[in-house]
Amino acid sequence: MQFADFCGNEALKEALSAAFSRRGLPHTLVLEGESGLGKRTLARILARASVCRSGPDEAPCEHCPSCVRSAAGSHPDVRVITGSGASGQISAESVDRVIADASRKPEEADGRVYVFHAADGLSDAAQNRLLKLIEEPPPGARFFFCVPSAEVLLPTVRSRAQIFTLRAPTLEQAARYVAAKTGMEEAEAARLAALHGGNIGRMLGEGGEGRTARAAALAAAMAEALVSGTEHDLLKAAAPMLRDRPLALETAGRLKLLFRDACVLKDGAKAEVRSKDGPVLRLARTATEKQLVMLLDTAEKAEAAAGRNANTALLTTWLCARLRAAAGL
Ligand SMILES: [Zn+2]
Repeated sequence: MQFADFCGNEALKEALSAAFSRRGLPHTLVLEGESGLGKRTLARILARASVCRSGPDEAPCEHCPSCVRSAAGSHPDVRVITGSGASGQISAESVDRVIADASRKPEEADGRVYVFHAADGLSDAAQNRLLKLIEEPPPGARFFFCVPSAEVLLPTVRSRAQIFTLRAPTLEQAARYVAAKTGMEEAEAARLAALHGGNIGRMLGEGGEGRTARAAALAAAMAEALVSGTEHDLLKAAAPMLRDRPLALETAGRLKLLFRDACVLKDGAKAEVRSKDGPVLRLARTATEKQLVMLLDTAEKAEAAAGRNANTALLTTWLCARLRAAAGL
């Protein structure tokens, strides 16, 4: 089996590959691990491999019609089930559709494949309804459940599944991977890797390649506007965040780091600071310790609000006003 550029998790990949080659991949797999470690990416690779027309060693080959359609989300035998709403609950209707769908013969592949993104959105009742299906799965059918921890699934479901735990790659692997993917400087990628413990999803800001670098630039411009600009400069610097929640989330996170660095610098500590140039240094020079703490607090609140799906335009305006107030402007 092929894992393309899926980073790290060597033992896991070996185990899956060995099982796949002897056609012994379990019909129900639970992929557990914290957000950002690649559960969905891995589940999609497994789904493509399950329908790929090439041999088990090459699958997913990424170029046969089955791989191409599966990658495009249009393979008739591959279903991805996602939750809806803020809670991410997977609806009873979605579960009913899976149950009805699974009883039909596959259209092209040897069996139908169901990927439950965020299967923690399955209620106990929904899991109980699925139980019969995974107890006696139709021939060739496969079920992949992505969860933060297998503990969120009922013991009856867990006992019928094989559980695989995803781990972060080493910091070096993660840094190299992200630097290659984004064109980011290696030192910056290494710093991000250390900050996020090698969690690539978090380093990239949830699938937004290049967003991290963009957010860093935005945060620096906003800090610069706080030091030497006008209210308009700050709003202008923050404008790209207005309609882009992931970017707003990441930028608030970068602002937080920036203010924290300025606090450390102000404190005179010899601790490692990302950058002693530019906005960090100027902030440390011009703002009081109390102001820096308030700026840090504001960035933390903005990051939390962005993570809670707050209205991004309102949040951005609020952030700018609060940052100016915190900086005593
Ligand atoms: Zn293929």
